[in-house]
Amino acid sequence: DVLVSEDVEFSSLLLSNPVLDGLSAAGFQRPSPIQLKAIPLGRCGLDLIVQAKSGTGKTCVFATIALESLVSENTATQVLVLAPTREIAVQIHSVIMAIGCAIEGLQCHVFIGGTPVNQDKINLKKCHIAVGSPGRIKQLIEMGLLVTSSIRLFVLDEADKLLEQGSYQDQVNWIFSSLPENKQMLALSATYPEYLAQHLTRYMREPTFVRLNPTDPGLIGLKQYYKLVHSNPLPHKVFEEKALHLLELFSKVPFNQALVFSNLHSRAQHLADILSSKGLPSVCISGSLSQDQRLEAMSKLKQYQCRVLISTDLTSRGIDAEKVNMVVNLDVPQDWETYMHRIGRAGRFGTLGIAVTYCCYGEEENKMRAIAQKCSLNLTELPDPIPSGLM
Ligand code: ADP
Ligand code: MG
Repeated sequence: DVLVSEDVEFSSLLLSNPVLDGLSAAGFQRPSPIQLKAIPLGRCGLDLIVQAKSGTGKTCVFATIALESLVSENTATQVLVLAPTREIAVQIHSVIMAIGCAIEGLQCHVFIGGTPVNQDKINLKKCHIAVGSPGRIKQLIEMGLLVTSSIRLFVLDEADKLLEQGSYQDQVNWIFSSLPENKQMLALSATYPEYLAQHLTRYMREPTFVRLNPTDPGLIGLKQYYKLVHSNPLPHKVFEEKALHLLELFSKVPFNQALVFSNLHSRAQHLADILSSKGLPSVCISGSLSQDQRLEAMSKLKQYQCRVLISTDLTSRGIDAEKVNMVVNLDVPQDWETYMHRIGRAGRFGTLGIAVTYCCYGEEENKMRAIAQKCSLNLTELPDPIPSGLM
């Protein structure tokens, strides 16, 4: 069952009366935490990536935002919702109809494969909200039956499934490119894998990331720290200072294996050598290595022949090692997506891990704060000196 927010009612979310009536008729009295967080942001017109585990009430999030966005006198299709399976599409339809029961003349229809296109054609004559599977929706757009010019809200439910490799990627891309440029987008997902981030970044403009809390889900058990270091106009000086801090961190925290990301790849090998000489067998992968060399480094990590893998962003993809429970950003990543990808390499479900990001006072510090705000991270400054019980 979804947990509801004890003290808040839907009425405090400033929803219209018909929607409030509909929510109440549907048996939704109080918003769930994700609804409380995401609905107001969505109502502001922001593009959202809503990530919360299943059963937290994500359908009602986009159903409410969609219903509030409608101009119901206009019979054109204004909202398009994609879902990966027909069952989910049908379920979404029933939630929208339940919450929309007090909206006069509301038209919402389901478009999925295996049903006659002729019926779709009739339904599309008047359809405010179209809910469907990518294949059928694409077909209907191609046939000119589903007119996209009035669509102002595009929803990807179960976005992780929709954009999974080998699933509906191409169809979703095609549909996306057939929609008007000026629209709001919502992506709802239980997980936040890297391929999803990559797609969504292309689709969305400055998306807001909505999660229940920073440690949930996926990052349960991952503690995130930052450490401020002095800035210096000479990059190698900064690198040296950060490397010293890194050595202290490694000497104090009993980690299994660590990934270290550095923006300065020219120094990465040097760092690997230093660490190796201090008893921490380390390898380094960067863009300058051949594919074979990269694979060799990866297999060393996986076979536990090294404890530290130093990498640049170029090579961060595809790193997947179970025993990694520490991720270090020697530099603040370029953007929040990169940050999330990187730290997601540690702290998988049920395991404990830590992530440490070194930032110079000033520009890097600000960049880190922006990321923390965007992802509502619960960042803590790394204690100095580092206590033994950090992990
Ligand atoms: P998700 O998409 O996150 O997996 P659903 O939208 O399918 O979750 O909702 C899960 C269940 O919770 C559904 O049975 C739904 O009716 C119920 N539910 C959602 N929001 C509320 C609410 N605010 N109050 C009571 N029940 C709710
Ligand atoms: Mg759902």
